[in-house]
Amino acid sequence: MLLHATKLINTAKRVTIFTGAGISVESGIPPFRGEGGLWSKYDPIILDLDYYLNKTELSWPIIKELFYDFFGNAKPNAAHKILANWEQSGIIREIITQNIDSLHQQAGTKAVHEFHGTADNFICTKCQTIYNTKELVLTSEAPLCLNKNCKALLKPNFIFFGEGIPHRAYEASLYAAHHSDLFIVVGTTGEIMPASQIPIIAKQNGAKIIEINTSPSNYSDRITDVFIQGKATQVFKQLNGLLEKQ
Ligand code: ZN
Repeated sequence: MLLHATKLINTAKRVTIFTGAGISVESGIPPFRGEGGLWSKYDPIILDLDYYLNKTELSWPIIKELFYDFFGNAKPNAAHKILANWEQSGIIREIITQNIDSLHQQAGTKAVHEFHGTADNFICTKCQTIYNTKELVLTSEAPLCLNKNCKALLKPNFIFFGEGIPHRAYEASLYAAHHSDLFIVVGTTGEIMPASQIPIIAKQNGAKIIEINTSPSNYSDRITDVFIQGKATQVFKQLNGLLEKQ
């Protein structure tokens, strides 16, 4: 399987990586779903847009604790770093990620399409100004727009329930799905629409699919050409070793 995958990577002209929560688990970030996932401990209503706008005082403290106090300390792992090196050496073209943790960028990857937005920015719910999280002082009260004439509520710039996919990331992901000849799916079970459709569109447009997951997913029987079972860091270290030998 590893050798077959290496051969596909070597012969492909345009390689896109598609990542989900599984790649960040080894950085200490728990997935939302499944056993031990965030939604087994917290009520998903905290990420409902109407709830955030109307019950901000209940929703914000939990969002802050989860996505800023806790996630904020996570560091890229070996899989993120190898992918950043692969981009630099031209092995891969770009990464589509469902994660909002910005660990791909922290590892050094430039072409990242954040399908669900990012926790790294906030957007004003009124004037749409975007602020880097580092510009803001996050307290137990939700942050407000720094524009003196606005002062409206800011919202983390990742998508809440009830929001659409960020336009540019969506367009770029569709373009990659139509123009790549190899998709490498990593750490995602393909359950979340519409993100889950991107590798399927790639397959329909002729891309080969390598899947790296700890257990088989919705993709495995349906679109996967090469399934590699294992943790992302282990598999990427092995693949990287094989590619370096050639
Ligand atoms: Zn504003």
